[in-house]
Order: sequence, then structure tokens, then C-alpha cells
Amino acid sequence: MNRDIKKAPKNARPKKVLSPEQYNVCFLKGTEPPFSGKYADHKEPGTYVCAVCGQPLFTSDAKFDSKTGWPSFTQPVVNENMAYEDDYSLGMHRIEVMCGNCGSHLGHVFEDGPPPTGKRYCINSLALDFIPKQT
Ligand code: FE
Repeated sequence: MNRDIKKAPKNARPKKVLSPEQYNVCFLKGTEPPFSGKYADHKEPGTYVCAVCGQPLFTSDAKFDSKTGWPSFTQPVVNENMAYEDDYSLGMHRIEVMCGNCGSHLGHVFEDGPPPTGKRYCINSLALDFIPKQT
């Protein structure tokens, strides 16, 4: 398991109005229902950014079909853009993934992903915005 865990900054200040559903995920660490999010089956080339602060988090190159109903990635744009924390809720140990800039809750990272990293970043669509690649 990745031990490169750092505390999330707690300075989240949304630059735009979030929906109640987004607030529940980003600030209350909720989880959207599987297959409900708009990016679960999204395949356009581009960059996924933090819905709260706009920090680049993932690119479409790292996205894969995990069949879980949540957008899934093998790796972030750069690890420095992320924050990680141990999560012992629901009677198990998971690694919570947050935006490294604002601390918004994104999802969790698991060790059962495909190559090249073997990681599966399981992320809520509601925590992301998408910026299409300029062609
Ligand atoms: Fe953020």
C-alpha cells in the first residue's frame, strides 16, 4: 500500500456554487450511487479537474473501465496534486483520496487496478469537472 500519505489541507473554499449532491461528496465525504455519475462511462480525451478548486487531477489517458460504476484511473496527473488519508469507516481500512490543493473529498484508491500502476483510483463524478482536450 502506498505509504506516501499526507494530511489534506483544510482550506477548501469553493469558487463556484456546488449542488447539494456535490457538497455531500466533496465536503461531507459522501459517495454517489454507482452508475449515477456523468463521468463513469465518459471517454473523451481531456483532463479531469477538482470540481471545487479546478486543480488538475486526472487525464483521460489514465482512465479505464473498472465496471464499478465510478470513474476509475490508474494514476493522477502528478501525485503532488493529491492528498491521502487513512479511512477506517465502514469497518475497513481504505485510503481516502482528496484534492491536494483544497482538501475536497474525491474517493478512494485501491491496489487492484490494471497496469502500469496496479492502482485503482475510484472517484466520484460529482467531485470532478472535465476540460476537453484542445484539438
Ligand atoms: Fe480542489
